[in-house]
Amino acid sequence: MDIQRRKSRKIRVGNVEVGGDAPIAVQSMLTNDTRDVKESVYQIKRLADAGCEIIRLAVPDKEAAEALKSIVSQSPIPVVADIHFDYRLALAAADNGVHCIRINPGNQPRKEFIRAVVTKCKEREIPIRIGVNSGSVEKPIKDAYPDDLVTQLVESALLNARILEEEEFFDFKISVKASDPLKMVDAYRRLAKLVDYPLHLGVTEAGTLKRGLIKTSLAFGMLLSEGIGDTIRVSLTADSIEEVFAGHEILRGMGLRQSGSNLISCPSCGRCEVDLHGLANSVEALMADMDRQNPGKPLDVAVMGCFVNGPGEAGHADIGIAGGIGQYYIFKGEEKVMRVPEHEALEKFKAELQKTYAEYDPEAKKHQPKQNANWQTANKDAETLAVEAHIAELESSV
Ligand code: SF4
Repeated sequence: MDIQRRKSRKIRVGNVEVGGDAPIAVQSMLTNDTRDVKESVYQIKRLADAGCEIIRLAVPDKEAAEALKSIVSQSPIPVVADIHFDYRLALAAADNGVHCIRINPGNQPRKEFIRAVVTKCKEREIPIRIGVNSGSVEKPIKDAYPDDLVTQLVESALLNARILEEEEFFDFKISVKASDPLKMVDAYRRLAKLVDYPLHLGVTEAGTLKRGLIKTSLAFGMLLSEGIGDTIRVSLTADSIEEVFAGHEILRGMGLRQSGSNLISCPSCGRCEVDLHGLANSVEALMADMDRQNPGKPLDVAVMGCFVNGPGEAGHADIGIAGGIGQYYIFKGEEKVMRVPEHEALEKFKAELQKTYAEYDPEAKKHQPKQNANWQTANKDAETLAVEAHIAELESSV
């Protein structure tokens, strides 16, 4: 499936391009006390290391606005100041060097306050995000469209976009977040037809790790497949690292970003005679570290439950490991590299993984076959046949 991105205008948030043909950026938000400079910088660096490209932080008071000066100067990624109610905090944040101001129009009832923020952002050449949220749409709009949340979100976004345009300010992106994923999808679809500003996607208050991720993936999947979305944040009631990880995985799954390596792992089944889930989780953590040390080398790595089907099912992997009886087989393409006892599997696999990263050849990768079509017939050596025979024996005894 070839996704055609919606044509949006391009803006810059610090050194990150947003919209147009720029890659879809992965964002997250700090959850710590943002008046604490040391902790904020520590958290930003941790998230940046995990792949976060733009970070937003709440600016609840003057002290937090003041702290921004030090935070921004130490941040490796652009910082967005999240402002509610007090527009003077937005002015202070802009003076303290933030790369973008997010205003929630529902919490800025006096439109002249928004105009004051626009004037400051113009002066400082800082973009704005009009961040409409289902929980805080302006009352007149709510009253005009009772029981129609989607229209409320879209109308609020259009009204505030008009205010910025009247000030001849076009350097902004928009979000229309709702916690109901289908309403959120509807709102973005409608807005995408009406404006060409970049859109930041988010399902607000999506929930805990599992539930939030499912809701968000559904909504993002629909919108991204239609080319809608220029930045994303997966909002989760969980460690923000999970948000960043999920954002990249969603984009990878949609074929929209190739950042870092891909893990292929089977669910395991009755054929599996090793602790596959434990190994797969350890390999995933290992890959996160190794990706950081080997940027631009997106490997396909397979962790499979059995050697009978594993290498065939993970045919396009650059390297893989498949379970046997109390042992594992490491394989590369159709070649079996070694057999290792289960307790040494992670350590040996790590060493082979390091070699694979070191030998990475982007040209060879482009021409890599997608399937090991001949696996089932070509690779049944004595060991494989022994495993198969053992499994057949197990199955016949059930
Ligand atoms: S690779 Fe083997 S263990 Fe994993 S699901 Fe397939 S048959 Fe089962």
